[in-house]
Amino acid sequence: MMTKGLFLDRDGVVNIEKNYLYKIEEFEFFDGIFDSLKKIQKLGYKIFIITNQSGIGRGYYSVEDFEKLTSWMIKEFKNNEIVISQVEFCPHGPNDNCTCRKPKTGMIDKILEKHQIDLENSWLVGDKSSDIKCAKNAGISNTIQVKSGHDFDENESEAKYICETIKDISEIIQT
Ligand SMILES: [Mg+2]
Repeated sequence: MMTKGLFLDRDGVVNIEKNYLYKIEEFEFFDGIFDSLKKIQKLGYKIFIITNQSGIGRGYYSVEDFEKLTSWMIKEFKNNEIVISQVEFCPHGPNDNCTCRKPKTGMIDKILEKHQIDLENSWLVGDKSSDIKCAKNAGISNTIQVKSGHDFDENESEAKYICETIKDISEIIQT
């Protein structure tokens, strides 16, 4: 059976953007994230996280560091009754010519190998234009750009909706 998917970028969307974050003690969830995602989860969405982590390729932290933080993060979500169905990361830098770094779609492709997702009724939430472009490249037209991460020009945004933080997305995603 096909399920709707909610694809989330991580830094600047789930947690406060800090350059090359990998330490659990520096990870801060945005206020209201759990209630917001709980509402969306109730509508039947599976939640996925897709995150560019070039800090790995740049040697600032390791895959193990990333995975340790990810396990902790998933547990925090679980403690708040939210299931994260899959996390995909791209460890490469901008010049590595990989197929996974957003705006490329490799991470979404990997998720689609394991889950049957109705992309037409799915959503992607990101803070950067590369997130929104990734959605378009993958065939996801429902997009939200949050203002809680990197600065962007609202007039230039290609996103369908713009809002302050992830707290507000449950007011946009209602079906
Ligand atoms: Mg981001």
